[in-house]
Formats: sequence, structure tokens, C-alpha cells
Amino acid sequence: MRQDCPECQRLWREYAAATTSHVGLESKLRLGDSTSMEALTHQVASAATVRENTRQAIQQHETDAHAGVADPAEIDG
Ligand SMILES: [Zn+2]
Repeated sequence: MRQDCPECQRLWREYAAATTSHVGLESKLRLGDSTSMEALTHQVASAATVRENTRQAIQQHETDAHAGVADPAEIDG
């Protein structure tokens, strides 16, 4: 990710939020403290999908906007 790219920062914030949500739901499921395990299982699955989609969006953006170059110094030289 590039520190100077607002889109990178937005995507990484989204990914962080999706990860927090997914991990939180998963630990709830592990604890088994919900009366509706089936609904929770669906929520975990959809949170995992959101997380995966966000991760792919980051990779796509890296390729589209930054040509997959991690270190900008390499282009400048
Ligand atoms: Zn970017």
C-alpha cells in the first residue's frame, strides 16, 4: 500500500473493518453463546465473503493504479 494514496487508505480501512467483523463473529460462533447458531453461521460466511472481496479490491487497485509496484522508488529511478 502507498501512504500517499487516499484510495489505498480507504481500501485498507475497509479491509480492517471487514476483518474485525469477521473475527468477532467467528469467536462468537466458537463460544456458542448465541441462541441462533444458524443465523450466526450465515453471518460469519457473509463476513468472510466481504473480507475476501475487499482483499481482492486491494489487489486489483494495486495492479490498476500502481502497476503492482510495491516500491515507488523503483519507477522514479
Ligand atoms: Zn492506491
